[in-house]
Amino acid sequence: YTAAGDRYEAAGAVYRKAGSSGLRLPALSLGLWQNFGATTPFETQRAILTRALDLGITHFDLANNYGPPYGAAEDGFGRHLERDLMPHRDELVISTKAGYDMWPGPYGDGGSRKYLFASLDQSLRRMGLDHVDVFYHHRPDPQTPLEETMGALADIVRSGRARYAAISNYSPEQTEAAAATIAGLGSSLLLHQPRYSMLDRRVEHGLLDAVGRLGMGMVVFSPLAQGLLTDRYLDGVPSGSRATHSRSLRSGDITDAKVAIARDLDAIARRRGQTLAQLALQWVLRDERVTSAIVGASSVAQLESNIAALDATPLDDAVLDEIDAVLAP
Ligand code: NDP
Repeated sequence: YTAAGDRYEAAGAVYRKAGSSGLRLPALSLGLWQNFGATTPFETQRAILTRALDLGITHFDLANNYGPPYGAAEDGFGRHLERDLMPHRDELVISTKAGYDMWPGPYGDGGSRKYLFASLDQSLRRMGLDHVDVFYHHRPDPQTPLEETMGALADIVRSGRARYAAISNYSPEQTEAAAATIAGLGSSLLLHQPRYSMLDRRVEHGLLDAVGRLGMGMVVFSPLAQGLLTDRYLDGVPSGSRATHSRSLRSGDITDAKVAIARDLDAIARRRGQTLAQLALQWVLRDERVTSAIVGASSVAQLESNIAALDATPLDDAVLDEIDAVLAP
């Protein structure tokens, strides 16, 4: 693999500052939660990853338990690094996380110092790296004192295993407390990673404000609602789609009500000369406090089409109102 020489002039080469930090992330990042486990051919993964870099996508989002099976996405990514991407290591922001169940017993889940250090060391071994760029606590753990979890994140950054610390799935109140705690330890949180899409607007009720006030960046996951905000399910559940093979999206989640909303949004998108997926991505990025939207892709064509969202005509107030009317309960 030889990276495209024009990758920093390509369609995905649009970078936004992560809060008040010095780090810029691509407005669209690639997530390896699904489609990068042991059940997806290596060459399919390779095509998506190398095309992403060729289009200016420099940020890859992983976690300890992405697969299937757990660990497989990091294992595979390690092989892609070794084979293709390692010459570009310093052009990449590689993120991983710990916080959900990873291995049996009391030290393979949660927010303890023991779990976070051990998990990150395992992640680094799987990927063949000496550091990641961003290490997240994946979800709040009410059983562990915040001082312990934030202390572990601060020490992980100090130890050189990660360049920045971050959190995911914390409430606005938990985010304020976490930021204050880690600041007291002389460190900081770079990012918050919540879910955000037209079908899940909870971040608009306090989290965006908290993250903005704290100078953190926000990187949002499942901006396409796992495919519901694309043309994937407009005419039923096609074979091979996520709803046919993943525990995270069941065919029962593809309800008539959600498909009706998707159809109305699709009509707005078509009128604007774009796809529903492109409209959905543009919509989550309309707020400058959203640093990046992490998309998933099962093909190069999906990735390329999604990245074209960055070139679309801006959303004006009339279109935003129309979208709000479709989304109103
Ligand atoms: P999306 O909402 O972007 O869904 C991606 C899926 O949508 C694809 O796998 C594909 O489904 C479908 N799709 C994408 N583009 C198109 C297109 N142009 N046309 C038709 N279908 C399309 O995001 P994910 O749910 O995959 O999440 C993205 C990332 O966010 C994850 O990889 C992970 O890194 C992160 N994440 C973080 C979480 C956290 O707790 N912090 C939780 C969940 C995700 P199909 O496979 O059917 O083709």
